[in-house]
Amino acid sequence: MSQPVFSTDRHGWAELLPARTPTAAISGTRRCHWAVVGAGFTGLACARRLAVLHPEQDIILLDARALAQAASGRNSGYAVGCSHFPGAFEPARLAGYRRVNRINAAGLSLLREQVHRLGIRCQWHEQGFFHAAADAQALAEVPHFADYLSRLDIPHRVLEQSALQAQLGTDWYARAVQVQIGALVQPAALLYGLAATLPPNVTLHENSPVLQVQTGAGITLQTPDAVVDAERLVIAANFEAATLGIIRPETVGSTLSGSFTRRLSADERASLGELAQWGVLSLHSGGATVRLTEDGRISVRNTAEYHGGKLLPDTALRKRQAIHRQAFENRFPQLRAVPFEFGWSGVEGISRNGTNFFQHPRRNVWFAGGYNGSGVSRGTAFGTAMADYASGGQSALITDCLGSPAAQWLPPRPVLDIGAWFTVRRRFRGVGRDR
Ligand SMILES: Cc1cc2nc3c(=O)[nH]c(=O)nc-3n(C[C@H](O)[C@H](O)[C@H](O)COP(=O)(O)OP(=O)(O)OC[C@H]3O[C@@H](n4cnc5c(N)ncnc54)[C@H](O)[C@@H]3O)c2cc1C
Repeated sequence: MSQPVFSTDRHGWAELLPARTPTAAISGTRRCHWAVVGAGFTGLACARRLAVLHPEQDIILLDARALAQAASGRNSGYAVGCSHFPGAFEPARLAGYRRVNRINAAGLSLLREQVHRLGIRCQWHEQGFFHAAADAQALAEVPHFADYLSRLDIPHRVLEQSALQAQLGTDWYARAVQVQIGALVQPAALLYGLAATLPPNVTLHENSPVLQVQTGAGITLQTPDAVVDAERLVIAANFEAATLGIIRPETVGSTLSGSFTRRLSADERASLGELAQWGVLSLHSGGATVRLTEDGRISVRNTAEYHGGKLLPDTALRKRQAIHRQAFENRFPQLRAVPFEFGWSGVEGISRNGTNFFQHPRRNVWFAGGYNGSGVSRGTAFGTAMADYASGGQSALITDCLGSPAAQWLPPRPVLDIGAWFTVRRRFRGVGRDR
């Protein structure tokens, strides 16, 4: 059987941080009470909670890559507190809307508490986001989204073009809904901080791909240089969980890309609006995610494609940068002379019906993942709840996670590849000026 490839490169938010030495890869013969595979938001949250629940037990946390080199360290950094469900408010879905938002809020609040208590420096900025619209399809979403927020008593306001120009420094958007819950973060810095503050009974091993798992009376995990016997296993490897060979989640990787400008000068920043930092999400699912970061860079993320669950090679990334560039200059013609410092790609796990996974697929094996584009807060909530669930606990959060709809079936390859390519591409229908 061919070995899985865990693609990685030197691009991403981690490049903006001081260099960090990865923890040692695992080697030899090891035993532990719990193995957690995947050190993204889900795995880190799960390992942290397991350690608190079982202070006398050993938890081994394994990741195939260096920390922050998968989606959790390469996302746009929006820790969402409330989700946007496209289309008009549907009363029959009210319980579902509330369930998802309770999970988002739980994850946001766990992260907030950890960031503040542990002193994690990750540019945490909790002022909510702008859900903006420039073209017809996204503009049609403004009243729908505002109506939904009103019915759920979620604080928000609708802003018109001139108010957006004053706050953000662009007249590109015709309208936006400003939602006042949600935090912006530097995702790689947050992951570094979460990993550095894990309880002492958690050992993180990076660059330790699990290549095979055997289950039965016990669980044995094989990496290139180690054999690990674990009593229990939590899989937090998201769309790559199939690489372990014991589950086949109905999820694939969609590859997104974006670019950062260099830091803006004081004059360049003065040409923008009143806010020192902000985050814009599009009300069109194919629209651009645009941020002004705390350290004065503008980032634009506006491509998504099916690329076999891999990162984009440099040549492809350079081509995608032309698309990022166009979006940037459309919005900020006054900054046309500002170059991009670099681009990055990242792969997010998506399911056909946008559901999440909170499962107990085998004896002593659990799996949490999914989230499409909302795994910062939701992955934290799922990982935490999974630790409680796998320990036999009960909570309202577990009930909410268990309430995730069943995933729609995905065909095997190569039909899967073709279907996934078209599905991701469909996301851009009608995007127009919102790209
Ligand atoms: C460009 C981009 C922008 C995004 N923007 C946002 C955003 O702004 N807000 C938001 O909430 N979400 C966003 N997302 C989605 C979000 O990043 C993900 O939902 C979230 O990071 C998933 O977390 P996770 O821990 O479940 O999975 P991952 O972060 O994918 O972590 C899984 C880990 O498992 C490891 N792994 C896989 N297989 C193995 C194996 N066999 N052995 C050992 N380790 C293994 C991987 O290396 C990886 O580190 C974005 C994603 C991308 C790519």
